Amino acid sequence: MKREFAVIGLGRFGGSICRELSKEGMEVLAIDSTEAKVNEYRNIASHAVIADATDEKVLKELGIRNIDHVIVAIGEDIQASILTTLMLKELGIKKITVKAQNDYHEKVLTKIGADQVIHPERDMGKKIAHSIISSNILDHLELSDDHSIVEIKAGKKIVGKTLIALDIRANYGCNVVAIKSMASNDINVSPMATEEIKEGDTLVIIGADKDISRFEKQLV
Ligand code: ADP
Repeated sequence: MKREFAVIGLGRFGGSICRELSKEGMEVLAIDSTEAKVNEYRNIASHAVIADATDEKVLKELGIRNIDHVIVAIGEDIQASILTTLMLKELGIKKITVKAQNDYHEKVLTKIGADQVIHPERDMGKKIAHSIISSNILDHLELSDDHSIVEIKAGKKIVGKTLIALDIRANYGCNVVAIKSMASNDINVSPMATEEIKEGDTLVIIGADKDISRFEKQLV
């Protein structure tokens, strides 16, 4: 079944969300206040309309109430982003995702009830910084200020060893939650203690940043 989404603001970020959702076959209502942007998405989204999202009447007329998930990707105009989010919340939208410009913006959005606040530039910057520091870290997902999930390329020191032999949990306080195998192009999401790490494997590890870093420095 197709799910319904609305994307408000068709800049680089909102535009990319709109494109991907549409590519995946989702119903997308694309909204922007500028005609040029809307024209760009006419053939991509299911519907594309020129509208000022800060106008409550317009939002109601667009039937936004019937949409499951609205993504607010209004860029620079923080006031418009906050006002739009507030109105969507009052209209009872089930899920609202908003792009924040800075930490203060994020705080306000969380306070007024945005379900998900994203900070793409900051988050991408962090990911890239981690992969620059260590070429073994392929991906990094921040869970809190000091906990993460990372994908680490298995190095020489651990290839051929089993999880039980490495005893990562006891020695490093981290958990291996999955092993991606390059050879079989598969992912094992519940690796056994007897699982042997092979050349080309990627370990998906959850833990405190300091423990992950220790593991990575000593073993990978
Ligand atoms: P990005 O950094 O993702 O490229 P931009 O600031 O370039 O973000 O894009 C934000 C988009 O949001 C622009 O296309 C702009 O026209 C649109 N926008 C700004 N205010 C409103 C509003 N009140 N209603 C609808 N769209 C808006």
